[in-house]
Amino acid sequence: MESGTNIKFAEGINRLKKPILPLVKMAEFLYLTGPCKTMAEVLDQLTKPLALEGLHYENPQQILQPYESLMREFEVLKGEKRLATSIPFIVSEKQEPLARRQSLGCWIRQQILDRELEEINSMLCGPCGCVLCCTGPDSKFDSLSGFKGNMKQEYFEIPLADSEVNLFVLARVDSGESRAHTAKSSPSLQVNHIAFYKHEMALYHWQNGWSLILPKGATCPQLSEETNRCMIYAKRPKVCRKPQIFPYVLEKTDDMAKRNDGVRIPVYMARNKMLAVWDCPYVRELQDEIGAYAEMSGLEPIFKKSKT
Ligand code: SF4
Ligand code: SF4
Repeated sequence: MESGTNIKFAEGINRLKKPILPLVKMAEFLYLTGPCKTMAEVLDQLTKPLALEGLHYENPQQILQPYESLMREFEVLKGEKRLATSIPFIVSEKQEPLARRQSLGCWIRQQILDRELEEINSMLCGPCGCVLCCTGPDSKFDSLSGFKGNMKQEYFEIPLADSEVNLFVLARVDSGESRAHTAKSSPSLQVNHIAFYKHEMALYHWQNGWSLILPKGATCPQLSEETNRCMIYAKRPKVCRKPQIFPYVLEKTDDMAKRNDGVRIPVYMARNKMLAVWDCPYVRELQDEIGAYAEMSGLEPIFKKSKT
């Protein structure tokens, strides 16, 4: 690693060693048990260094500031504001509905961890020099991430929002038949009597939206072959920003529930787990740090291989 990338990687490790959730938990407690009417007032008081659960936070106010908009959702509990977004129906692993305060806490923690882990991922991913997330199975880049080829998968899928499809100049498959399938449908979508993943890389419009299909040996067209870096990094698709460490405070289920006003809303299950994908080189290198980060965040760490 070059020195600049070394610094970035070290910053990522430092962030893992000082997770945000213990601070959020403390701010929530101060808000709910004290006289402050807003989260901003709580943050105004956190100007001094703090020791929490054996961790030293030099400037808690500065660390929490970027998450203030998410933490403000706690204000509904004192009737100071309405929720910015409606929260889903949340059940425990025993399928029992969670109380309002517990549900709100899980919802906010999930959003905060999503944001924190996205930032940590961008610090750790670049310096690894790995491009596993940007290639199909058995690509010429596999050795950079420690794979020796012969993966079982036939293709990898990069789901795209409608607004992200134009980032890629590729052939598109958008037919009644493609829209009646998903990439995972069995039997698979056939294009010219051949399974879709046996064709060249292309954009597909499925029943559940668009995705970029990277068949065996393919490389995302936005990956620079000279630098091994994404050429549209700042506007890369949302899914490319996702870390290989996924917070599962909540997991979406296939169920829907009816709210009091008759509106149907998705059902989530409170899991309180964190999944780290073992294929990723930084996950393998930082197993202990990631495990400790999860535990300090009140989550059970799970390490799992995804690509075989
Ligand atoms: S858009 Fe960029 S980050 Fe996403 S798969 Fe392609 S090269 Fe990788
Ligand atoms: S596997 Fe990990 S290091 Fe490799 S591209 Fe994906 S996030 Fe980055």
